[in-house]
Amino acid sequence: MILAIPKETTEGEKRVAIVPETVSKLRKIGHTVRIQKGAGEASGFPDHLYEKEGAVLVDDVNDLYGTADVLLKVDRPVVHPSSGKSELEMMKKGAIFVGFFYSMSNVDLAKKAASTGVQVLSMDAVPRITKAQRMDALSSQTNLAGYKAVLLAADHLHKIFPLLMTAAGTISPAKVVILGAGVAGLQAIATAKRLGAVVEVSDVRPETKEQVQSLGGKFIEPPQDESLVGEGGYAKEASAEYLAKQQEILRKHICEADAVITTAQVPGRKAPVLIKADVVKDMQPGAVIVDMAAGTGGNCELTEPGQVVKKHGVTIVGHTNLPAELAYHASQLYSRNLQALIEYLTKEGNLNLDANDEIVKGALITRDGQIVHEKTRELAG
Ligand code: NAD
Repeated sequence: MILAIPKETTEGEKRVAIVPETVSKLRKIGHTVRIQKGAGEASGFPDHLYEKEGAVLVDDVNDLYGTADVLLKVDRPVVHPSSGKSELEMMKKGAIFVGFFYSMSNVDLAKKAASTGVQVLSMDAVPRITKAQRMDALSSQTNLAGYKAVLLAADHLHKIFPLLMTAAGTISPAKVVILGAGVAGLQAIATAKRLGAVVEVSDVRPETKEQVQSLGGKFIEPPQDESLVGEGGYAKEASAEYLAKQQEILRKHICEADAVITTAQVPGRKAPVLIKADVVKDMQPGAVIVDMAAGTGGNCELTEPGQVVKKHGVTIVGHTNLPAELAYHASQLYSRNLQALIEYLTKEGNLNLDANDEIVKGALITRDGQIVHEKTRELAG
């Protein structure tokens, strides 16, 4: 089949869906790889490296989209600046779009994909089961984001992270509080520890305690009165009373911290507010909050998505696309996730979207002009 990789056009997106090393692997299983000229430039992969692996470089985007059997992207479909049309409309009927589609937050886009006859496979909807581990793009990208969040905190802080003994006296290590010990949070703990910080961590899932401790973090016990372990091992949405208790427990730790990295998320819901405005007011002067949940409402009440703001002397970083800031490795890992998915689906040179397959069932959003993803269909009404 013809696999096409366009240059991402979403503002601030520096990643590319496929890196050169993946091209030959996709060709080996019978696919033709066509890539827009300059698609990998922003992530450090120049055209000649793709050419060397046997990719066809394409200048004309209408040609690239119009002939693609499968379009491999990072971000969801947008209006293409060169054609003024939705990327979905630039594709042929029956073609397959693969990328982070987030269909449950983009129901109208899912309806549009159905109406254009494009089949959507959403990378964020690939089930997180053992069989699909190599395709888990959510984890590969969030892992890097957790690392970058700590570097941003260190960069904005007017202090150093490690204990330092000098002839001029001793500097005590920075205190870092991490809220949420999922994929991003665990990487943030490991990174902050490597930089020498003292790390305290809160999560509502009890099994994270041992993981936090094994990385050298101190676990802050959550309110005990409600189990927040939900479907698929993810957290459930907390009640207002629970959150109020948790905010109270966290207040002391946050107010003593030099840096707070927040990663708390509840799938399909607005992120829980764990740092109210009045807590920010009581934080250390010059402290930093990196709110990794900025794109889903924020864990801090004063976060402004996409902005770095200073409130009550505290710097609040609301970056919404941290993986793009590590575009080389983020693209490399995402490309391997896509490769694993394409290899898994390829049968005799074609992509076989078997509706009974567990992975296809989870990730397929539209097919034959219909929304087939159950939860998205419910939301579409
Ligand atoms: P996520 O991004 O949805 O959430 C991040 C973290 O925030 C989670 O640990 C969650 O418990 C926590 N959180 C939610 N509400 C909170 C609150 N009020 N206070 C503090 N923390 C709060 O989760 P994620 O990082 O994408 O993944 C975490 C889950 O997914 C885990 O169960 C993990 O084991 C599982 N997982 C499984 C696989 C697999 O292949 N089987 C792969 C990756 C992740």
